[in-house]
Amino acid sequence: MVTSGLEGLIPGGTFYLRTFGCQMNEHDSERIHGLLSAEGWHRVERPEDADVLIYNTCSVREKADSRLLGNLGVARRLKAAGRTRAVVVAGCLAQSRRDTFLAEQPVVDVLVGPQSLDELGRRLREFLLTGRPGTACAGGTGGWSATLPRIRRPGPTAWVQIMTGCTNFCAYCIVPYVRGAESSRPAEDIVAEVRSLVADGVREVTLLGQNVNAYGKEAGFGGREEFPDLLGALDDVAGLCRVRFMTSHPKDMSPRLIEALGRYASVCEHVHLPVQSGNNRVLAAMGRGYTREDYLHLVGELRRSVPSLTLTTDLIVAFPGETEAEFRETLSLVEACDFDAAFTFIYSPRPGTRAAVLPDRVDRQTAERRVNELIALVQGQAAEKNRRLVGATLEVLVEGRNANGQGWGRTRGFKLVNFSGTAAAGERAMVEIGGATSAGLTGRRVPHGR
Ligand code: SF4
Repeated sequence: MVTSGLEGLIPGGTFYLRTFGCQMNEHDSERIHGLLSAEGWHRVERPEDADVLIYNTCSVREKADSRLLGNLGVARRLKAAGRTRAVVVAGCLAQSRRDTFLAEQPVVDVLVGPQSLDELGRRLREFLLTGRPGTACAGGTGGWSATLPRIRRPGPTAWVQIMTGCTNFCAYCIVPYVRGAESSRPAEDIVAEVRSLVADGVREVTLLGQNVNAYGKEAGFGGREEFPDLLGALDDVAGLCRVRFMTSHPKDMSPRLIEALGRYASVCEHVHLPVQSGNNRVLAAMGRGYTREDYLHLVGELRRSVPSLTLTTDLIVAFPGETEAEFRETLSLVEACDFDAAFTFIYSPRPGTRAAVLPDRVDRQTAERRVNELIALVQGQAAEKNRRLVGATLEVLVEGRNANGQGWGRTRGFKLVNFSGTAAAGERAMVEIGGATSAGLTGRRVPHGR
């Protein structure tokens, strides 16, 4: 149990926890849940029922900021009605706006950055005892949320943090400023956590880091392992069927890693490899560290190593100065790569990043037209790739039942499948695919060996 020195002074009450942003934040929220439960707090599902409201925030995109502000409106109302005793903002936004946010949003009582989650309980108790707002936002590589107690949603899949931070400083990205420098977690800790998850019924783990391909490469890392070695160590864990990982950076996708992806049976045939743009001038302005040609070469090598590869990506349109011709190069790269899916974004400036002060912002109308054209291309490609799977029989790790009573789960290639026939969560069912859309597949369960 994590101790704060203030145990027993405040009786455990109820908390509501809302998460914004990426899987790393979802994972951090499992740690916040575990940490507060260990200190006697009880989680509730509705803000109206909670003594404390906690928002675990993201500041990567403007949209997440505005969703938080909407939630703070609810918090203000509940506080005014005397229901809510404290409001906590945790995560990336807390870190990036640590010097001003409490003054800008007086409804917020405690700010906790992603490297300081271990301080959350203590800061909350201090506020409840003294009424003085508090901030815990350590800089640098700070603490590991992976070492805190955890309560995860039940099921056969789990996230495992293997790194924290990022040292790439892409021109548009706030992450290195809020999560600090890359720091790798010792392989033996990761393997031990995975073994205990498997003992708890987990069959698939997703290894999390901002740039997992750089695992073990930072100066001062005590271990000898790099990412391919870690995949090898996890492949030896009995009972673990599937290993996924995200996110990969193209510049750190080494030949050794590409070879490892094809070698280990547990490593799923899915790589999420953000390309962001198909134009070399834009890639250089973004500070991505690779060219269009480098990326296309990597895709070719990956497909050679893993012939049934599912390839997904992230794309940004309307980066400052992006011309129509440069945007067309993104479209042509998407066509050449034949992606299974892509997250598409309109560039939004993040204060404090290099790109935020670049001239030649693309107007909103042009940006929206470009993103819509890109989405149409990506969705057409995704639907066609899924259609090619109709008639195939694929392994699905069953995660549960949908609202229609059908089983659902994912293939090794991360395709969402809804299927008829009985199956329990955690089973690996063989499903004959009968239908496809850009979003996923449908089918029926068939006996193994068909
Ligand atoms: S690799 Fe670039 S985009 Fe990804 S987290 Fe690091 S700085 Fe941000």
